[in-house]
Amino acid sequence: MRIETINKLCCPFDKHDLELTIVTRDVEGNVLEGYLHCPECKRIYPIVKGIPIMNPDEFREFQLEQPLLDRWAKQLGNMKVENFRLVEAVDIADRRASADDATE
Ligand SMILES: [Zn+2]
Repeated sequence: MRIETINKLCCPFDKHDLELTIVTRDVEGNVLEGYLHCPECKRIYPIVKGIPIMNPDEFREFQLEQPLLDRWAKQLGNMKVENFRLVEAVDIADRRASADDATE
């Protein structure tokens, strides 16, 4: 899909502008693979073979998207996806440490 077209898309839930991360492009510069992220509701919409997947949550299957997310680990950095939302990944050790702080 052309970048100009992708840039016109907004979040179907809150109409917020989406942030585009490109993973691969074709020779014409069209986006083949990547994802759109809504800063408002945190949802992540994968772009697969040039098609953005923007279904409502109940029509999405996490198992189908998981292999993509695994492949995009580099782009996602310290973020992870929970319930189709992009959230900051906090490892279990950190979480336990902050839980200890809270009880003091
Ligand atoms: Zn949104």
